[in-house]
Amino acid sequence: MDTDVVISGAGPTGLLLGTELALAGVRVRILERQKRRHGQSRALTLHPRSIEILELRGIADRFLAQGRTVPSWHFAGLSRELDFSVLDTRHGYTLFLEQARTEELLEERARELGVEISYGHEVGSLTQDEDGVEVAGIGPDGDFRLRAAYLVGCDGGRSKVRESAGIGFPGSDGTMSSMLGDFAVVDREEIAAAGRVPVLIAPLSGGLTRLVVTSPERMRVPATEPVTFDEFRATLVELAGTSFGIAEPRWLSRFGNATRLAENYRSGRVFLAGDAAHVHFPAAGQGLNTGLQDAMNLGWKLAAEINGWAPPGMLDTYHAERYPVGRLVTGNTQAQTLLLELTLVPDYQRPVAALRGLMDSLLEIPEVNARLAGLVSALSTSYAVPDGDPLVGTRVPDRPLGPGGGRVSDLVHSGTFGYVGDDAAQIAEAWKGRITVADSRLENLSEALIRPDGHIAWVRRENDPPDAALREAAITAWAGAPERAAVRR
Ligand SMILES: Cc1cc2nc3c(=O)[nH]c(=O)nc-3n(C[C@H](O)[C@H](O)[C@H](O)COP(=O)(O)OP(=O)(O)OC[C@H]3O[C@@H](n4cnc5c(N)ncnc54)[C@H](O)[C@@H]3O)c2cc1C
Repeated sequence: MDTDVVISGAGPTGLLLGTELALAGVRVRILERQKRRHGQSRALTLHPRSIEILELRGIADRFLAQGRTVPSWHFAGLSRELDFSVLDTRHGYTLFLEQARTEELLEERARELGVEISYGHEVGSLTQDEDGVEVAGIGPDGDFRLRAAYLVGCDGGRSKVRESAGIGFPGSDGTMSSMLGDFAVVDREEIAAAGRVPVLIAPLSGGLTRLVVTSPERMRVPATEPVTFDEFRATLVELAGTSFGIAEPRWLSRFGNATRLAENYRSGRVFLAGDAAHVHFPAAGQGLNTGLQDAMNLGWKLAAEINGWAPPGMLDTYHAERYPVGRLVTGNTQAQTLLLELTLVPDYQRPVAALRGLMDSLLEIPEVNARLAGLVSALSTSYAVPDGDPLVGTRVPDRPLGPGGGRVSDLVHSGTFGYVGDDAAQIAEAWKGRITVADSRLENLSEALIRPDGHIAWVRRENDPPDAALREAAITAWAGAPERAAVRR
């Protein structure tokens, strides 16, 4: 084998996955088609769960230091925004951070951990057998071939890995498109005085300003068609009555609502993550966030398999857990986009305004806000098991651990499981290097096993009597078999 894992694509998903694998001592090589980073940012936001997972690895501060937080975020462009500040998290806000910066910070971390990133390497095809995957492509020195135990396609919506692995990508073609433009010159006074206009305006780094528009006149133009400066300027005038003095465009792009979900996130030794597995309109900014969370789910499982202690069937839990999340995201973005699309169709404008008014009033109900904010922030993502304790599968808020001190996130900084309970020393000995322990308490639980991705694997409630055999079985189901000699009954 040339390496343990090849990742195709050094976007946010591939970079985070690379760091997760390297953290567990796995040899990983990322192949990236581009010769260098282009510096353009599609996404501008990180939502609460993404910040939490960065916190789980002790690196959230790097991202927080570079961005700006806002407590609310829009859903379907409704007037009333989702309030993230009421969610049970230390990070109840959206972080404005340009995708290019997020990628730079992830790459910095990946390199610190020794991940090999090869720019200018385009993956073209793959073949797999029982023992590994052969990856072929074109690099700076011509054709290359690499053999690895596993290949992960993090190569975006047009994923070559997905195509080459023969994984279906069912869904719907786009029915509408929007345009974005990043401009070096805008009339800031005019923007400040504009009031409510149907144009999304966001300041970017380097003095640039992003404008996003969806026009009734232009929304049926296919997303693949290039945007011209004149078209963008005319659309601004159509929507806002002014072009806001735009000049010196740095990037013009069109994006649409084609929505597709990979029918399987795994085919043998090949996995898909991020946009390679799901594409949709960027409604409420969920694509990059979902990709990071895919990577966080897959990394430790793949590492466990390569390091030889994964329980049977663990790799299949990746599709089982993340595909339903992909369904939720592609579903809610379609619902949001339909509302946006109908707003622009003249015959529907009045009834859609009524529908929007109704939805705004529903969002005033705290439970409705909590439901949608939980969905968009991904804090409500749960990998629940039927008939299990309702806590199992949910994500653990980053609570302080009493009375010993520290927080939940401290336990999993190095990518291990975390155990909280009275039997810490014994658990540490039996699952050496796989579980970090705290002789402590997590709220009113007698014991808790936390997965490396911050979800609950097992709990013993205060009123449940200790049962060493049950506990060993529960821990073994996730963290693999213990070192026998170390287990006491
Ligand atoms: C206008 C717009 C705004 C958005 N805003 C948000 C937002 O606010 N929040 C949010 O969460 N999401 C947002 N998104 C979505 C977000 O940008 C994507 O979901 C995110 O980039 C996906 O990351 P990824 O790493 O999975 O894929 P990508 O970012 O697409 O990265 C894939 C990488 O693979 C490389 N690659 C492709 N093919 C090959 C190959 N054959 N061999 C080697 N390398 C290859 C590519 O060059 C690229 O670097 C937005 C999208 C758009 C269009």
